[in-house]
Amino acid sequence: MERKILKWTTWCFGMLTVVMCTGLYFMPAFKEGFTAAIWEIPDFEFQEAPVEIEESVVLQDDKLNIELPEGIQGPEVQITNDYINHTVCVRFPKAIDNYSENYIVQGSSDHIANISYYKESGQGVLEIKLDKACEHFYSYKDGFLCMEFKDLHDIYEKIIVVDAGHGGSQPGAVKREVYEKHLNLDIVLKLKELLDEVDEKKLKVFYTRLDDSNPSLMDRAYMANQLDANLFISVHNNASGDGKFSSLNGTMVLYSPDENDDSSERLAQICLENVNASTGSKNLGLVKADNIYIVRTSEVPVALIEVGYMTNTTELDNLCTPEYQEKVAQGIYNAIMQAFEEGF
Ligand SMILES: [Zn+2]
Repeated sequence: MERKILKWTTWCFGMLTVVMCTGLYFMPAFKEGFTAAIWEIPDFEFQEAPVEIEESVVLQDDKLNIELPEGIQGPEVQITNDYINHTVCVRFPKAIDNYSENYIVQGSSDHIANISYYKESGQGVLEIKLDKACEHFYSYKDGFLCMEFKDLHDIYEKIIVVDAGHGGSQPGAVKREVYEKHLNLDIVLKLKELLDEVDEKKLKVFYTRLDDSNPSLMDRAYMANQLDANLFISVHNNASGDGKFSSLNGTMVLYSPDENDDSSERLAQICLENVNASTGSKNLGLVKADNIYIVRTSEVPVALIEVGYMTNTTELDNLCTPEYQEKVAQGIYNAIMQAFEEGF
């Protein structure tokens, strides 16, 4: 079996080339091919391993073998996967000098865009940039960390992003000392209980927040886009235009209108019907909402559910009860399942 050893000095040369070609970096058409070339295309000089590797360590072409620095055992290594930014970090507990010159990283992967090494807070960090959101698998063998990366969509049948609107310093509507951000989160946490019961192989759920934090609108949409989610569902509650209590009540769902793609509208319709059916709320219809940032910028089917009016006394009372929140969560859950049945 041919061993292709990509020496780190070669990478350094590659990276230098990247820097020199910064102009190309900003041209999207070139970016993908160029960064991929660093890893996949054997234009660079491959060399035999400077040390003999046990045959058992040499794995298939689709794996990456990372030599552990001297004195470091597998369990001491920390691996983190930032799915959203397509980055896996391997942290050694010591900041190793000249890791790239003294240790081996070998193998290949369809998904590696590039690899870099840096020192941070007394640790040595090998940063692996992937071309998409991937799950990582790893094992330790004979002084090597063996890693494999698989497209999330090859592992999970469906991937969705669920967003509880507002959070942190952004309360959303506030009526009778009830904060919209809390209602939204309460509903999402109840929805999570239902979604947690689904086999993980069938469904992987990412939440923009599960506490009183406030991710930016940009980050929320970015999350759905970076994960190439099958669905993006955002949970909000409504208030009348002038903020005054009124008889106005019911559920509406916002969507992104697109002449060529009605998936957002269809998803919104499914959400509306199911939340209405589960809660008995009034059907206030669908609303085109390209004026809403996360709706406009979502590149995946999106529905923003305005569950009910906090400016309606009865509806606000309902929204504050766990029983009603459970009905809302059940309605959204049913909508998600129906959407999958319809091929989302
Ligand atoms: Zn809101």
